[in-house]
Amino acid sequence: MFQFDELPYAYNALEPHIDAATMEIHHSKHHRAYYDKMEAALANSEGAAMSIERVLSSVSTLGTGVRNNGGGYYNHNIFWHSLSPDGGGDPQGALAAEIERSYTSADELRKEMADSGVARFGSGFVWLMVQNRKLKVVSTPNQDNPLMDLVAEESRGTPILALDVWEHAYYLKYQNRRPEYIQAFWNVVDWKNVNQRFETAMDSAQ
Ligand code: MN
Repeated sequence: MFQFDELPYAYNALEPHIDAATMEIHHSKHHRAYYDKMEAALANSEGAAMSIERVLSSVSTLGTGVRNNGGGYYNHNIFWHSLSPDGGGDPQGALAAEIERSYTSADELRKEMADSGVARFGSGFVWLMVQNRKLKVVSTPNQDNPLMDLVAEESRGTPILALDVWEHAYYLKYQNRRPEYIQAFWNVVDWKNVNQRFETAMDSAQ
């Protein structure tokens, strides 16, 4: 029903910041498992004919399997496309201006997201999202995300940047040093893609 996509870059393309072994296992094993289990959980359900966004926004009626694995599928797709071997540097375009308005600087935004990632107990994601036409940083546990109808109102919005803080995202290279992984993550963030998501989210919120 849904598509399992190859990464838009090679497994070793994000070295040395994110290592090839981590990327390969993360994509070909973890992401694959979320995809396969989502497909199984959605088979013969009303969710089978929906878009993934629609599935997530009505996930409270579709069961735990769809919550965990549909969330895993969507979250990783945003995460893979948040990254690029040509990434790093500072935000671009309309997003750059909005970050300056809301956070005073890109460094302040990076700090808020890093703090949120370090504070996330166990597994989860940190999101930069658009909520009521404003930027907001939130963190969700496990494979939940801001599109889900069962997430608290203050954490709901349109995700534009995903930071995966599950141990499987960093443990091979960084072991228990999650802050170091988050620091390295910024070197490969594809701000061009994040800006596109931002502009689309702002357009559709009008
Ligand atoms: Mn992951």
